[in-house]
Order: sequence, then C-alpha cells, then structure tokens
Amino acid sequence: MEAVDIRALVLATHGTITRHIDELTKLDLAIGDGDHGVNMKRGFDAVLADVDALAALPLNDALRAAGTRLVMTVGGASGPLLATFLLVFGQELNSKKAPDAFASAVDAVAKRGKAIEGEKTLLDVLFPLAAGLRLKQNCGQLANIANQAALATIPIKATKGRAAYLGQRSIGHMDPGARSVSLLMAAVANVVGAGR
Ligand code: ADP
Ligand code: MG
Repeated sequence: MEAVDIRALVLATHGTITRHIDELTKLDLAIGDGDHGVNMKRGFDAVLADVDALAALPLNDALRAAGTRLVMTVGGASGPLLATFLLVFGQELNSKKAPDAFASAVDAVAKRGKAIEGEKTLLDVLFPLAAGLRLKQNCGQLANIANQAALATIPIKATKGRAAYLGQRSIGHMDPGARSVSLLMAAVANVVGAGR
C-alpha cells in the first residue's frame, strides 16, 4: 500500500460528514429515524479528536484504531457496520493487497448486517466499490462509482434496517448510509488522488 496522509484523510472525512450533516439527517428522516447525520458526526468528531495518535500509526493500524473509535461513538445500525469495515480492512491489509482487503471488509459488513447487495443499504455502495477496485479504477472513477451507486438506491425497496418497515414507501429516497459511504469515498479519493 502506498503511503497515504492519514491526517489529511481524517480531516477530509470529518469535513465532508460535517458539511453534509443536514442532508444525512433529512435522508434518514425520510426512511428512518433521522439520527444518521448526528450519529456520523459524533463518530467522526471522535476520530478527529484522535488525529495526532492516528497519524503516528501505520495505515493498517490507523484504520483499525478509527474503527474502534467509530464502534464506540456512532451507534445505530451504521456504527458497528462502518467499524467492521475499518477493522477488517485494516486487519486484512497486513496480508493482502488493497482490492482483496477491501473485498474481505465488505464481505464482513454483509455478514454482520445479514444483508446482501440490492437491499437499499450502505452495501449497495461498498460492493460496487470493491468491484471497481478490482478493475483498478482510479480515485476519480471510484468516487464516481460511489456517487452513482448511492443514487441507484433511490428506486430500491428497502428490505434491511429501519427503512424496511416502510416497505413500498421506502422507494424514492436515497439510503442515508449509502450516501455517507459515497461522501466518504469522495473525500478519500481527493486525498489519495492528490497524493499521487
Ligand atoms: P439506525 O438505522 O439504527 O438509526 P443509522 O441511521 O445511523 O442507524 O444508519 C442507517 C443506515 O444503516 C441505513 O441507511 C443503511 O445504509 C445502514 N444499515 C441498516 N441496517 C443495515 C444492514 N442490516 N446491513 C447493512 N447496512 C444497514
Ligand atoms: Mg437512523
């Protein structure tokens, strides 16, 4: 894995969640309970508070430490799932190349959430990103894949998470968790892409 600027990653991911908190709140009010923006902000505030310690670690350990932070702070359904992603991605980077480590992390999230692709969750962005990484898509392309994938959750009927209680009425809204992951991917792409 090439060297990445962990401090810049923390600042960029925190920044995008902070700028989009109202949008995430609105998305979750439409098909959930409205806490997703606040949940994510609380988690990324905690990660930002640890930025000095995180920046001193190798990337795989920093990812795992950030995952531990998120699982303690985000709450909701999304917290343990995002934390699982970071914990497993960091762990698997010890022995695997990034696309394989990413794919293992996505599989772990699916297992943890007992969900598959197409159920209107954050997995609907993570799986296309795993595929894009395998195809060696560059940062800009990955950000684009994530954005399109989040938009593609709009016509899906939710079958997992709180939104599933709405049945047909979940159709026509973007999934908040999918939107968060697309925002995070865009922020990461900006940092990693600029570092090349
Ligand atoms: P909660 O639903 O507990 O209020 P959040 O609002 O923070 O938690 O997160 C909601 C998001 O979590 C959803 O938009 C969806 O992307 C994701 N999610 C919920 N349940 C699952 C699941 N079983 N598998 C994958 N993602 C899920
Ligand atoms: Mg919620």
